Amino acid sequence: MSCEIRIDGLVKRFGGSTVLNGIDLHLKPGERVAIIGPSGTGKSTLLRCLNFLDRPDEGRITLGDLSLDAARAHRDEILALRRRTGFVFQNYALFANKTARQNIMEGLTTVRGWPEAKAGARADAILRQIGLGDRGDSYPAGLSGGQQQRVGIGRAMALEADLMLFDEPTSALDPEWVGEVLDLIRRIAGGRQTMLIVTHEMQFAREIADRVVFMEGGRIVEQGPPDRIFGAAEDERTRAFLRRVG
Ligand code: ADP
Ligand code: MG
Repeated sequence: MSCEIRIDGLVKRFGGSTVLNGIDLHLKPGERVAIIGPSGTGKSTLLRCLNFLDRPDEGRITLGDLSLDAARAHRDEILALRRRTGFVFQNYALFANKTARQNIMEGLTTVRGWPEAKAGARADAILRQIGLGDRGDSYPAGLSGGQQQRVGIGRAMALEADLMLFDEPTSALDPEWVGEVLDLIRRIAGGRQTMLIVTHEMQFAREIADRVVFMEGGRIVEQGPPDRIFGAAEDERTRAFLRRVG
């Protein structure tokens, strides 16, 4: 359920531009790390590389006893990594033609190979946990933004992954739905999963994270406990960013 994560020397280029320029990050089992930084800095690319939604060019990714040479990883290794990683997307990324319940079941039946009945029972339990016990048969278009993102989180929860990745989970939401989604993430964070959360909600990062990482220009500029980063950042780039968003 929870294991150590190591990211070593991760590099990602798009065409001629280097978007991740040697990222080293180690997470202790159960640690919650928030990533903050200006837009265009490579935060989403970092999360996508960790799940091989974008293929890294260099580096190594290690989850417990599974260790991938990013540039050379084979399909089987990538699938094994994905089985152990839950991803919550900025724009929910639900299947529009599947119900909330089917969206939650999807990863269990395809990635995990569970039979329908077992996946359905798990989906029903998750729907209750995310407060949508009576909306399992609704399609995404019939749900509010907040409910859709709760399904997105439920889908990731269903996999009981070692590592949960959140990419700005509230930034696409109307303000009225932000609170319920942050509340759900807070509840999950009470568990033992290791979490990497990209967020533009500074107050939330401060409250939920064991450690805050500030990224700029494809590099980690500075990291530390929330109180130090938000209260006494050492790097001028971190302070300038926090002045802009605060
Ligand atoms: P952030 O999430 O910090 O806002 P991103 O990781 O989305 O930043 O993007 C970092 C940089 O990589 C940006 O300049 C973006 O335009 C570029 N980029 C991201 N994805 C692609 C892609 N698929 N093809 C080309 N460039 C990309
Ligand atoms: Mg992003």
